[in-house]
Amino acid sequence: MSKKVSAELADRVKKLPPYLFAAIDEMKQDALKKGVDLIDLSIGDPDIPTPKHIVQRMKKAVENPEHHRYPSYAGMLSFRQAVADWYKKRFNVKLDPKTEVVSLIGSKEGIGHIPLAFINPGDVVLVPSPGYPVYPVATLFAGGKSHIMPLIEKNKYLPDLKAIPKDVLKKAKLIFINYPNNPTSACAGRGFYKEVIDFAAKHNIIVCHDAAYSEIYYDGKKPLSFLQLPGAKEVGIEFHSLSKTYNMTGWRIGFAAGNAKIIAGLGKIKSNLDSGIFQAVQEAGIEALNTDDTVLKKIRDTFQQRRDVLYNGLKKIGMEVQKPQATFYLWAKVPKGFTSSEFVAHLLNDAGVLGTPGNGFGAPGEGYIRFALTASVKRIKEAVERIKKAI
Ligand SMILES: *Cc1c(COP(=O)(O)O)cnc(C)c1O
Repeated sequence: MSKKVSAELADRVKKLPPYLFAAIDEMKQDALKKGVDLIDLSIGDPDIPTPKHIVQRMKKAVENPEHHRYPSYAGMLSFRQAVADWYKKRFNVKLDPKTEVVSLIGSKEGIGHIPLAFINPGDVVLVPSPGYPVYPVATLFAGGKSHIMPLIEKNKYLPDLKAIPKDVLKKAKLIFINYPNNPTSACAGRGFYKEVIDFAAKHNIIVCHDAAYSEIYYDGKKPLSFLQLPGAKEVGIEFHSLSKTYNMTGWRIGFAAGNAKIIAGLGKIKSNLDSGIFQAVQEAGIEALNTDDTVLKKIRDTFQQRRDVLYNGLKKIGMEVQKPQATFYLWAKVPKGFTSSEFVAHLLNDAGVLGTPGNGFGAPGEGYIRFALTASVKRIKEAVERIKKAI
């Protein structure tokens, strides 16, 4: 006699928001099955390979038996030192690699785990929307409640901190911010970061700044690190990823840096759940962080050419579109008469071009579509021609 377990999902899983990209995924698979020549501008995953010198370092590191054993939890000190050196060189920020840096299995891992360290059931986390879906999900998994901060054009896609109600502020323990921003491509300046630091200090709120796109910038305008501002290290940490900067999304390596107490809290969760990053990958990470700027400039130039072609092209055919100063995304208004999902479906069916519906990043993204610059100039030109015919 055998009886199956019910395997009923936990409430936290049942409470997950509906996956708005599922319908699009299905339509994409259908189109591919039908043999449509699809131009996929929906994925935030660079189509350019990891630079050769990083791959070479990995090849060598793999052969070292020392790396075949469990890595240290916080990351090899040499990797964390390379992070500190990179911060000094890039942002003129001084970090203690022993206490102010922790390695991550991609920044998604750190973002996903940080609420577990600081959020009790009922605590509030301030979450930007549209935004990276991991912020509200990580909050939910920790038993916290997300308070949505809408990012709208009128406010240059910066959250309006003054609009957050007093009773919410009392329960708020943590705020996520993300600039250069995915999906809107907006950047933040000194004034905004200063406002966030004052706000966090006043209300005792931990700041988690997601800086995954700090190195994908255009026209030579380098984004700031949140940690460059006085007082930042008193209130928060910054998440970085090697994924976007060095085309290393598959390698799974990132880090968090800043306030030692917050870094230690995150480290505590990690040491109980994972066992760190394969040390050969950390060696490759050191190589990546020491990459000559001429290599990175080439990558940026590639994205900038694509940005110019897509931005100018969409503008010319009458679409309302934001010119990105950073990130590899374009945030465009959908034409009148369409919802985000309807327009994405229309472009897929009529033009064989795939974008991401803005509402997939949260309700305030309704009315927008995100295009990723992860196709060649030739394909992007072709996409513009096809979109022109479809609208
Ligand atoms: C891609 C991305 C990340 C995560 O990158 P990892 O590969 O996990 O390091 C984090 N935040 C944002 C906004 C992203 O777009």
